[in-house]
Amino acid sequence: MANTEQTYIMIKPDGVQRGLVGEIIKRFEQKGFTLRALELKMVDRALAEKHYEDLSSKPFFAGLVDYILSGPVVAMVWEGKGVVLTGRKIIGATNPAQSEPGTIRGDYAIDIGRNIIHGSDAVESAQKEIALWFPSGVAHYATALAPWIYEKP
Ligand code: GDP
Ligand code: MG
Repeated sequence: MANTEQTYIMIKPDGVQRGLVGEIIKRFEQKGFTLRALELKMVDRALAEKHYEDLSSKPFFAGLVDYILSGPVVAMVWEGKGVVLTGRKIIGATNPAQSEPGTIRGDYAIDIGRNIIHGSDAVESAQKEIALWFPSGVAHYATALAPWIYEKP
C-alpha cells in the first residue's frame, strides 16, 4: 500500500447547504491525509450521469442525478496510505441508518438519498473518478509532516 494512494471525495449538495464542509475536511486533515485537489462547483448533468453510470439501471438513478445537480458540490482528492478504504470507514455505510456513530454519515445524515458525501469504493474506481473530476490533474507538493505521520515517508 503506497503512501501516495488517492481517493475521490465529494461533499454532496446537502452537505454543502448544511454547513458541513469544514467538519468533513477537518476529519480527513486531522487523520493525516493530504489534500491534493479541491473545487466548489455546480455539476452538469452529463458529469453526474457519467460519475454514477454504474447505477444507471437503478430505480433511484434519476433522483440521484437530480440530487447531485441541486446545488454546488465540493470535489476533492485526498492522498495517503490506505486512503480509499479508510476514507470509506470515515464516511460510514451507504445507508445512514446503518452507519456507525462517529462516521460522517452516522453523525450527520438520516436518509440514504441525502447521505451528504461520496467516497470512491476501490483504488481503480478512485483513479477513474479523479480523472473524470480533475482532468487537468491535481497539486503535487511536499508535505513537511510526512515523517511525523509515516514511519517510512
Ligand atoms: P456509496 O458508494 O456508499 O455512495 O453508495 P452506492 O455507490 O451504492 O450509491 C451511490 C449513491 O446513490 C449513494 O451514496 C446514495 O446517495 C444513492 N443511493 C444508493 N442506494 C440508494 C437507494 O436505495 N435509494 C436512494 N434514494 N438513493 C440511493
Ligand atoms: Mg459508490
